Amino acid sequence: MEKKTLAVIAHDNKKDEICAWAYKNREHLKQFNLIGTGHTAALVSEKTGLEVKGYLSGPLGGDQQIGSLIAEGKVDFVVFFWDPLQAQPHDPDVKALLRIATVYDIPLVTTPRGADILLSSPLL
Ligand code: PGA
Repeated sequence: MEKKTLAVIAHDNKKDEICAWAYKNREHLKQFNLIGTGHTAALVSEKTGLEVKGYLSGPLGGDQQIGSLIAEGKVDFVVFFWDPLQAQPHDPDVKALLRIATVYDIPLVTTPRGADILLSSPLL
């Protein structure tokens, strides 16, 4: 069976959280084809030892690249730990990513507990 693709993205203040979540779930994450925005992908890969295909950094277009992959039907799930307490220079891109995931009914979770629930879903 072909692996499902899971995208990981985290704003800077959330990078520790996504790395901790990924490390905790590293065995489970082996079942996915992992992709992510530049820095998040590199950090998650370093932390878990798993291969994570990195796209551009979020502020430089990475969110848009992930959004485009969603539109092409190439992403199945998104773990996006965005920062609700700090304005982002690429806020329009963040919004666009949230929008396109909603348009295509791609499950997108934004917190560690949400991500745990996603991973434990029998619908996976
Ligand atoms: P980064 O991008 O993983 O390259 O830091 C994430 C973001 O800010 O959207």
